[in-house]
Amino acid sequence: MDTVTSTTDAPRIGLGMPRMPGVRGRLKDIPAPRPKRVLLAAPRGYCAGVDRAVIAVEKALEHYGAPVYVRKQIVHNIHVVTELEKQGAIFVDEVDEVPEGAHVVFSAHGVAPAVVNAASDRGLHAIDATCPLVTKVHREAVRFARDDYEILLIGHEGHEEVEGTAGEAPDHVTLVNSPDDVPNIEVRDPEKVVWLSQTTLSVDETMETVRRLRERFPNLQDPPSDDICYATQNRQVAIKKVAQEAELVIVVGSANSSNSVRLVEVALENGAKAAYRVDYSTEIKQEWLDGVSTIGVTSGASVPEGLVKEVLLELEDAGYGEVTEVKTAEEDLMFSLPKELRRDLSGNRDARALGGRTRANAGA
Ligand code: SF4
Repeated sequence: MDTVTSTTDAPRIGLGMPRMPGVRGRLKDIPAPRPKRVLLAAPRGYCAGVDRAVIAVEKALEHYGAPVYVRKQIVHNIHVVTELEKQGAIFVDEVDEVPEGAHVVFSAHGVAPAVVNAASDRGLHAIDATCPLVTKVHREAVRFARDDYEILLIGHEGHEEVEGTAGEAPDHVTLVNSPDDVPNIEVRDPEKVVWLSQTTLSVDETMETVRRLRERFPNLQDPPSDDICYATQNRQVAIKKVAQEAELVIVVGSANSSNSVRLVEVALENGAKAAYRVDYSTEIKQEWLDGVSTIGVTSGASVPEGLVKEVLLELEDAGYGEVTEVKTAEEDLMFSLPKELRRDLSGNRDARALGGRTRANAGA
């Protein structure tokens, strides 16, 4: 799957797009030790699960009319949430905030069965936009719990995805936040233990956690397939390569986006002298650029490409107009729209135009 493109023969990215108002000339072009350039990581930005979830809300708004309620942020990006709010989406924390009989979309991060039941009890029309790769982990949890395994779920306490997965088998799941948690883990039967994980973790840190778990529980069973998803892994591989040559890395993504925060950590662990996460280009500080010749840029899996382009435009103002893409993988995974939407859109022009699949599948 990996197709590594060297930075020397990689394509140049044009910057001839219209500028956003209010950011022109904010950053100054100050001298650097070597020629200034940007290394732009690829893959970056939207994954298949995010694309599907965002389109699900847009299609629900078009088909059912506003408002459409969304439990939690549909994806962890403030810009996406704000834009959907403008179209008529109302974001709530729990389904008891949704009027009876209304449409509610479950976010890409997934929900526990208790949430599905609560929505049903309330007579809500639920559209489940849980990413299929999160659903896969839910199914693993159900299966291992049925076989009476103790499930060591590696993930971050309080994250919606972890709450949803743990909710599938609350009596069998023990949360492991980090490698440092391992000495304190207690299990009923060390012979019957399996690890699963959140989809958006650092691959390296997760493998370290697993190594330590296996030291304590030699019969620890692995998941049937990788739980950390393809998009998380691909974005980390790309930024690792970029970070080897970049003094500064800028990650576009929101503070509550696990995979975006991991990209900052991975950049710092792999050679970048500094790495910062920004929601918007206007958060880039002039002092970050002092003495910097090469800047790496990437974005989390819930970030629209337009936000990255704004960053590139601001960096161009500061003299970093040479942009080279560093591509380490091709991505072509696509998911069908949630089945509830496909059912309701069937026979509808939108459903036929999309073939029941996402924007990416429609080639847009
Ligand atoms: S980051 Fe991975 S698990 Fe999360 S929505 Fe994207 S593809 Fe699905």
